[in-house]
Amino acid sequence: MDEYRGVNTPIYTSTSYGYLDTDERLYPRYFNIPNQKVIVRKLAALEKAQNGLIFGSGMAAVSTTLFSFLSKGDHCIFQNGLYGGTLHFVNEEFNRFGLEYTVLKNNEIKSFQSAIQKNTRIIYVESPSNPLLSIVDLEKISRLCRKYNCISVIDNTFASPVNQNPIELGIDIVIHSATKYLGGHSDISAGAVLSSNEYIDRITKSSLSFGGSLNALMCYLLERSIKTLSIRVERQNQNASLIADFLNRRPEIEKVYYPGLKSHAGHEIAKRQMTGFGGMLSFELKEQDITVFQKRLQLIKPSMSLGGVDSIICAPVTTSHRLVSKKDREDEGIKDNLLRLSVGIEDSGDLIRDIEQAL
Ligand code: PLP
Repeated sequence: MDEYRGVNTPIYTSTSYGYLDTDERLYPRYFNIPNQKVIVRKLAALEKAQNGLIFGSGMAAVSTTLFSFLSKGDHCIFQNGLYGGTLHFVNEEFNRFGLEYTVLKNNEIKSFQSAIQKNTRIIYVESPSNPLLSIVDLEKISRLCRKYNCISVIDNTFASPVNQNPIELGIDIVIHSATKYLGGHSDISAGAVLSSNEYIDRITKSSLSFGGSLNALMCYLLERSIKTLSIRVERQNQNASLIADFLNRRPEIEKVYYPGLKSHAGHEIAKRQMTGFGGMLSFELKEQDITVFQKRLQLIKPSMSLGGVDSIICAPVTTSHRLVSKKDREDEGIKDNLLRLSVGIEDSGDLIRDIEQAL
């Protein structure tokens, strides 16, 4: 790519490229400029995929992927407990376009199976899910999809490719909000889809019209970020596991949600399909007011989003699930006293002491 053989990829800022003597038509919205191609190659390698597409946000990746495969009258199954923005998108947009869908009440495989209809085209999961870290058996989902001729899609944001490679478990399409772990420093908004050449060709066709591409500078920044992805995530795994154990022993805490805990409903499945349990955990405070608790924290920042090197905490009810109705939140088991912690790479002792003094 670079005639000077620099270690880093040069940033091609051009939005205009020569077209004579070549069949290639390069243009940012065609998802084919040099920096887009480089980052996609690396992300596809991380997710063991043949190909991919890089978008301007996670939601651009989610919405474009779903709308690339669904036509009027098609049906889609969504697991229980999705990122609030995805659930909001489905609730707001699907009916308007004549799309049918079922959001499950629980994530047992038999619930997925009994929700399948003649017109079911996609089964969409998020494992671990946001914010309750629920775990779905991905091999069973992929087998179900093959049997009933549907496409399996996973939002793999919470796990990151370091902890989970769904394509190896038979899942067809992997989506990431690259704003989170892939970016890792809370300064990039991006999304990615990784899959087979066949599916990526299909999504590319719709993407050209929907136009949610990512610019070259951000592609470069993301490429720089993923050079440290594995060491960041390994540290986040370790820190989160120590904090989950600590919270689990504290009398002030009602319940801890972390797939690495033996008490977590999805622990055995997570052990099989993940190589690390991730840097995300949630917990319910017994009595203390959640705002007072967050204000008492000195190192951990009450702040939205997740997956960065800095530890941040938020209440899903007023952030990620703000647009989800109270009834839908209750159906998902998201209580008003729930806090979601995105564990960073700080010293684990410092983090635990911070939580301890705030409790
Ligand atoms: N998927 C998950 C699991 C998320 O947590 C988020 C954002 O919080 C998204 C998708 C959407 O990503 P973005 O904000 O980059 O559009």
